[in-house]
Amino acid sequence: MIPVRNPPRANLGGLEGRSAAGITGVMEQNEQRAVAGLSGLAVATLEGGGSGQAVRVPTVGDVLVAIEELWPESLAEGWDAVGLVAGRSGNPVGKILFTVDPSGAVLDEALEWGATMIVSHHPLLLKPVSTVAASGFKGDVVHRLIEAGCALVTVHTNGDSAVGGVSDVLADALGLQDVKPLAPAANGLPEEGIGRVGDLATPVALGDFAEAVFSIMPAVAGGVRVAGDKDALVRRVAVCGGAGDSLFDRVRSSDADVYVTADLRHHPASEVREAAAGGTPYLIDVSHFGSEWLWLTPAADALGTVLADRGFTTDIRVSGVNTDPWDFVLTPGH
Ligand SMILES: [Zn+2]
Repeated sequence: MIPVRNPPRANLGGLEGRSAAGITGVMEQNEQRAVAGLSGLAVATLEGGGSGQAVRVPTVGDVLVAIEELWPESLAEGWDAVGLVAGRSGNPVGKILFTVDPSGAVLDEALEWGATMIVSHHPLLLKPVSTVAASGFKGDVVHRLIEAGCALVTVHTNGDSAVGGVSDVLADALGLQDVKPLAPAANGLPEEGIGRVGDLATPVALGDFAEAVFSIMPAVAGGVRVAGDKDALVRRVAVCGGAGDSLFDRVRSSDADVYVTADLRHHPASEVREAAAGGTPYLIDVSHFGSEWLWLTPAADALGTVLADRGFTTDIRVSGVNTDPWDFVLTPGH
């Protein structure tokens, strides 16, 4: 069970307790491009907020309050842009779609389903813009959202840092114990911050651990890359969903045997390996999208629980679109 800031209280009709690892079997059956099968997954059609309580459809403002409870904006990094991107506070929200990226294909899916809110991990507009003309793809997304009456909310580094956030889900899916943040949050609970480090119940060979990492990830073209001795035993594991090469110093001081993150580039990665002289920390580089996609189902469940607890009813679904940018890979064949 992945912890959340607000412990679940409402009955989610069987979705309660679903972990990221529990959806692996569905992922493995997916087709190459779409993360197929997900469209029917993690749909929390809530039954209402308790006996005798009338159910109500929340407004955008109601959902924002619930989001703030789970993933407070105060946990976001200073450079980030989180919160409401498009939408009116008083508009009703009957259907919410969770996604890693607010891409055009995700928008197609959302509007076809009739979503009235998209919760996206990555910001559509991280950097300032001077136009949202529909001739550009970001402006087109903004136009389509407004024309369809669909709100867009970003839960980015606040979703990384919070209890039950992206790296907590990754740590949970890998079976880590005694998990702590790699970089504790300045404004959060002691267990909040960027990245996590914890221990496996028993040491395993790096090659076997890499297989375990591969098994929890969605099927993406890039697969999983590993630096280190395949037969070396690892027990202490650091993780950071998304791009984590800014945390190498923290990883070293945590005494992690292996670091699982995404977007590792040549120079930072090779310098870590040179400094380690063949020893720890080993590196496991996974899909940026995949490492964050794992969070969507627990996040959707947590939001559904908070809303149900307040007597709101809304459909919540995880996008079935694979927004990993890579389509195929060539390797020497090992
Ligand atoms: Zn990311």
